[in-house]
Formats: sequence, C-alpha cells, structure tokens
Amino acid sequence: MSFVVEIQPEILPKTDNSVGIDLGIKTFATLSDGSKIEAPRPLKKRISKYRKLSKSLSKKTIGSKRYEKARLRIAKFHAKLKDTRTDFLHKLSTEIIRENQTIILEDLNVSGMVKNRKLSRAISDLGWRQFRTFLESKAEKYSREFRVISRWEPTSQICYACGFKGGKLDLSIREWECLNCGAKHDRDLNAAINILVAGGQSETLNGRGGKQKTTVEVAAVCETSTRRGAKAR
Ligand SMILES: [Zn+2]
Repeated sequence: MSFVVEIQPEILPKTDNSVGIDLGIKTFATLSDGSKIEAPRPLKKRISKYRKLSKSLSKKTIGSKRYEKARLRIAKFHAKLKDTRTDFLHKLSTEIIRENQTIILEDLNVSGMVKNRKLSRAISDLGWRQFRTFLESKAEKYSREFRVISRWEPTSQICYACGFKGGKLDLSIREWECLNCGAKHDRDLNAAINILVAGGQSETLNGRGGKQKTTVEVAAVCETSTRRGAKAR
C-alpha cells in the first residue's frame, strides 16, 4: 500500500507593507515601523550561569561521576539555550514574513565586529545569521521578497529625514539630534528606516519591479536618503 501526499505551498495574503530591519545588541531588532523586539533573556544572566557551570566542571576530576554530571549539566544548558533562541527566531521571522511583502535587512557586518571579542560572542549568541537564514527561507516559501543591502555609509549615521550625514556614533549613544534639520532620532529606528529606503532604491535603480521570485539583492545606501521610505508603509 502506498499513499500519495500532496503538499501545497502555503499561501499568505498579499500585502503592500515593506519593512526595514535593524539588528542590534541592545535591542535584537528594530523595525522601520517603530517596533522594537528584545531577545528572550538578558545575555549577561546566561553568561554568568555558564561561567558558574564551567567553573564547577573544571574543579572535578576528569572521568569521575561528578565530572560526568557537571558535563551533562553544561550540555543541557547549551541545548536549552539553543531551543529558546531558535524558538524566538522562528516566531519573529514568521511574524515579519506574515505582515510584510518586502523585507529588507542590512548585510551583517559580523566580520568587522570579530575584532571585538566580547561583541562577537554576544552576536553569535543572539543568532543574527540564523535569523537571516529563517527570513530568507520563509520569504521563498511564502512568495515574499527578501533583500539584503550592503552599505557604503553606516545607516545609523545618516538622518533619514534630510539625508544629512552626522559623525560616527558610539554604540552607547541611543538617541541623537540631526545638526542639519533638528530631527530627533532613536538610533535604531533611524537605521531601520534608512535600510528600508536603501532597499526600495535598489529596485528603482535597477529598474526592476514586481518580481515574483525571492531574490537577494545587494544595493548600497545612497548618501542622500529621501523620505520615500517612511511613506512606503
Ligand atoms: Zn536631518
């Protein structure tokens, strides 16, 4: 006996929404519509627990029963951490794909951050790459458009309202005021809007619109951003 199982591609209703996503350490994701999504649990708490567990393991004699117990505890800790993170990333990526037709993410400059060991550990723990992979595969599955923009100019330095380029902002600065037009910006939201604008521009620049297939496009943030992105929603 055999069964034929037909798998229909799942269909989501079309929407006109586009979203730019800024990924960060402090706030996991800031969307161009102003939503802020925090990672499930404070990283610091998990790191300190991990330190405690590994310290306990280092005190045991290798091969002893106590050692084996401590080793298992660490393995369980890792598995749980991974589960929590994967679950969070799955839910978030599904929600974003469901609500938007075009999803634009900034190319993750992880290699540039590897110099900072503390930062790179934080990033790998947050699962940025996994999140990007989830968005990409779900966009394909649900006929959404997923784009990745690379950047010439950091999106956090350009005022989305007037295009003025301010100086480099230290990571600790979360809000700033544009010296040219006086607009007050939330650092992450301003970046997310610039990402959305840059993603939209790539389409016009290439003269390609209304594509059905999911593609990964590489565009660049133009120095003169416009308000178009804010209106695109
Ligand atoms: Zn400005």
